[in-house]
Amino acid sequence: MAIKGTDIVKRLPEGGKKNCRECGLPTCFAFAMKLAAGGIAIEKCPYITPEVSRELEDSLAPPIRPVTIGRGANALLVGDETVLYRHEKTFVHQPGIAVLIADDEPAEAVEGKIKKLKELHFSWVGKTLEADLLALQCKSGDPVKFTALVNQVLSAVDCPLMLISENTDALLAAHGLCADKKPLLYPVTAQNLEKVISAVKQNPAVVAVKGAGVESLVHLTNRLKEAGIEDVLLDPGSKDLQSAVRDQTLVRRAALKQGFRALGYPTVAFPCFMTADKRRETLLASIFITRYAAVIVLSDIDEHTLLPLLVQRLNIYTDPRMPMAMEEKVYPINNPDQTSPVLITTNWALTYFIVSSEVGAQDQSLTFRALNAGALEVLPKPRLAAQRGLALGEFEGELVATVRAMSEVPVVRRRRGASTQATIPGRKVSPPARPFRLLAIGASTGGPQVLVQLCAELPPDLRVPVLIVQHMSPGFTAGFARWLAEESRLRVKLAEHGEVPLDGSVYLAPDGFHLRVDADHRLLLGDEAPVGHFRPSVDVLFRSVAENVGAKGIGLLMTGMGSDGADGLLAMRRAGGWTLAQDADSCVVNGMPAAARKLDAVDAFVTPAELPGLLVAATRPR
Ligand code: SF4
Repeated sequence: MAIKGTDIVKRLPEGGKKNCRECGLPTCFAFAMKLAAGGIAIEKCPYITPEVSRELEDSLAPPIRPVTIGRGANALLVGDETVLYRHEKTFVHQPGIAVLIADDEPAEAVEGKIKKLKELHFSWVGKTLEADLLALQCKSGDPVKFTALVNQVLSAVDCPLMLISENTDALLAAHGLCADKKPLLYPVTAQNLEKVISAVKQNPAVVAVKGAGVESLVHLTNRLKEAGIEDVLLDPGSKDLQSAVRDQTLVRRAALKQGFRALGYPTVAFPCFMTADKRRETLLASIFITRYAAVIVLSDIDEHTLLPLLVQRLNIYTDPRMPMAMEEKVYPINNPDQTSPVLITTNWALTYFIVSSEVGAQDQSLTFRALNAGALEVLPKPRLAAQRGLALGEFEGELVATVRAMSEVPVVRRRRGASTQATIPGRKVSPPARPFRLLAIGASTGGPQVLVQLCAELPPDLRVPVLIVQHMSPGFTAGFARWLAEESRLRVKLAEHGEVPLDGSVYLAPDGFHLRVDADHRLLLGDEAPVGHFRPSVDVLFRSVAENVGAKGIGLLMTGMGSDGADGLLAMRRAGGWTLAQDADSCVVNGMPAAARKLDAVDAFVTPAELPGLLVAATRPR
């Protein structure tokens, strides 16, 4: 257990009353408190005796010593744990997964395991999951064979190594080949302890002590500490699952709860030696991930055994106070194409809840990211639809109609930012040579993307205001306005009752209100009955423009299901306005423009690519 500042101060010079300030702090008490918190080195006080310094260092050391196996970027740091249960705070250094290679395995098996260690990597929530080290075992008892294996591995892969041999000469010979990599040597027992100590004092390594039970480890670690060797792992020598869990828990509890320094080291576990059944071995490894092992040795790895263990390890060693979270955006998974399904998930920590309840109206950015990525339509979930006053039957009808319509939309590959088509071959559109005062646009399915494209290309000094009715499920229009504003150089807002529209500004009809212009060209919002199921209705907007703007109005009817806007566009044409409709090829659904064509309401069919140039030319001062 960590020593407290109030206990440290009693051990300082003159019982903590010297207060000479040479450590840079005003009092010995301040020094003691900072030392307890790890904020200052003991050496800063020149008056502490070597004995007290050693005692304090011992008391201040972490209850489970941090140990690094290997060197460089691939080194594995284990230990330094401070809690018995993950929910108390967090587990810190995840256990290393080791793959066992014995020197009596066929060459192909050895190469296969090395290959798997190098290639089995998994991308998971922005991290790369993989096994960590190779455990090389001298099973033959032949130092020559064992060192040959070590040399083969050293030339093939750069990873931390564990060397396993009951033959101490073979163990130390192998250590001599890779001493610069600071390998983990196993087993260190009462029989080879002194031999290993003298070798490790010359060439540092991590040593794993093995005993017949937890108690037998104590004199081994005490002797190693006395010899100045503290990079130590413990193996209580457990033979079965029950004793293994008991021993791992005993060691962790003794270190953390009793502050028993002789057991204050990380542990190693060998599922590979506990069973010949691969599935049982994986289950044992899974238990050791939660029950304290710092290095877990497996006989082999495959995708189906390794991935679950790595994911479990990641979850157990993720700080429960800081759950994993992904940045909200559209992620391509496995090279999706235009026919791939769309998966939606959330950062909800407990993912077994139904995620659809999380993806709500509050998070509309996700909706518009989907539209931006090529989604054709957005619909509210039934619960949200009900909240917005839509009866379940109405919602079902809308859903079925939308899915039917979408099933007839040809699948196309979209290039972001690219216009679908330049102009319609064989015909040239020229704007009428008269001044215009207002542009009115109606759109439905497929409209958001083409409106974003149009508004992104119109200049901020456009000489007319732009009024838009976009059919959209209730609750999404405000989010659409924000998206349009982000992508557009024009000012974009939801229309307000009575306001005077300004040139270079875009006014979107809000949810549930018809949008009109009056004789003074002011905007009017009305909650009269839907027209043709729509409120806002394109026909209502276009008719008011026909009536109050006449020949100075431009009407543009874009992609969408049904026929809303066709009658209104005809009224505008009859009033002398210039009427345009989106060409059939670029429409996601050609219902509305086709309905206008049938009524002979359209002066010209235009592509999205040529629209910005035409509208700028038409509204230029003359
Ligand atoms: Fe106390 Fe040592 Fe600091 Fe002096 S240098 S104030 S004796 S802790």
